[in-house]
Amino acid sequence: MTRTKLVATVGPACEDPAILGAMIDSGVNVFRLNFSHGTLDTHQQMLQHIRSEAGRRQAMVAVMGDLCGPKIRLNRIDGGKCELAKGATVVFRRGDALGTAQTLTSSYPALLDDVQVGHRLLIDDGNVQLRARSKTADELTCEVEVPGMISDRKGINLPDSNVSSPALTDKDRGDLEWAMANDLDFLALSFVRRPEDLIELREIVRQHKSPIHLVSKIEKPQAVDSLEPIIDQSDVVLVARGDLGVEMDVSRVPLIQKRICLLCRRLGKPVIVATQMLQSMVESPVPTRAEVSDVANAILDHADAVMLSAETSVGKYPLAAVEMIRRIAEQTEVFHKKFRHDLGEDLRIQPCLDMAVADGAAVVAQRLQARLIAVWTPKEDAARLLSKHRVHQPILAVTDDERVCRRMAMLYGVIAVCQPAEARLNRIPAALDRMLLEKKLAVAGDRIVVTVDTRPDLPGETDALFIHVVGSTT
Ligand code: PEP
Repeated sequence: MTRTKLVATVGPACEDPAILGAMIDSGVNVFRLNFSHGTLDTHQQMLQHIRSEAGRRQAMVAVMGDLCGPKIRLNRIDGGKCELAKGATVVFRRGDALGTAQTLTSSYPALLDDVQVGHRLLIDDGNVQLRARSKTADELTCEVEVPGMISDRKGINLPDSNVSSPALTDKDRGDLEWAMANDLDFLALSFVRRPEDLIELREIVRQHKSPIHLVSKIEKPQAVDSLEPIIDQSDVVLVARGDLGVEMDVSRVPLIQKRICLLCRRLGKPVIVATQMLQSMVESPVPTRAEVSDVANAILDHADAVMLSAETSVGKYPLAAVEMIRRIAEQTEVFHKKFRHDLGEDLRIQPCLDMAVADGAAVVAQRLQARLIAVWTPKEDAARLLSKHRVHQPILAVTDDERVCRRMAMLYGVIAVCQPAEARLNRIPAALDRMLLEKKLAVAGDRIVVTVDTRPDLPGETDALFIHVVGSTT
């Protein structure tokens, strides 16, 4: 089992339950349902398969829905596709008429209002690039700067324009309802621009009394300019390098990734690094050396999770890709085990009991060369903060809430176990002994550090820490 958590995007390549089951066996912790593709019926079917395969294995696997957000797309094109030649003139019109090499329409009604003369329009991840040369109330005339083939519903990025569309489209609202009704664990929002986008989404989630956790996808320059407040408003952050590398100069992506990972560590939030991690495995059974290095570097950047996209959703080798990313994680994590990079004073969150106890547990476990750290808590916060220390020891988080347990599938180094709460504190050591010996996570005589919430009647934060010798209660 890796300490780095593995997120796999589902799609036609893994719709067979046997493949999903094998992916769980190979270490997938979180499955992503991408609402940009498929229908709610196909997602429902996939969710059912994931849950039944996870249930059969008693695996704590989480599911993340991914809302499209204000993604702009071309409308359909006459004949499905057309070639745009260098220097040619293409006119965008309002409405939804079929496109041609001369005139196009888009899914975004305000495109003609938001794009100003001189702005770029990047189609199909920037493979085809246009620049706006003139505009009237009903026409935006563009010149093709980078030629190429375009086809139905390809994405359009407007990196120079202030896109005025709301953070949540009508489709997002429908998908959100479905995600909450089906008790998904995480919900990612694409094209986050401001912290207010998360606040709006959280308000809807709160009105529905849903416990779903929110993931902000960082893929817009505006989001990069407001990282701290966005991370503050998020439960999890996702470095969406695909669109980020289109919206911004792709050469800036590596340092932005490092900055996001560093800030998430300081602010105590889990971070996923995503997109093209093993892209060549969509077609080939082995990755390039550069891809292997990229996955390892994300882990060294302190990513909590790494994500596979096309590799598992439409690739030819979904299982091989999971096994490969797991092997890279296993090899790279040795670095964290050998060289602990102390979080020290770097944590930038408001001091709280969970944080103080996590700091203490990390130090005590290090000094004692403890076998593991057990966090006995009804919530995930204590394990989340401890996870950021990248302690040498595994973190065993015990909770009686299955949802909390599944959400911990996103936390680096955390093994989550669901177990009924012990009414009495003095029974916790014996319960831990049973669990650790049964799961072979420790042997009699091992020392472990335990953090607990001593106020089960008033569950809040962990407020105590003790050292226990495994087997001393039996
Ligand atoms: C990305 O753009 O990197 C991303 C993760 O989003 P999607 O896969 O939805 O394009």
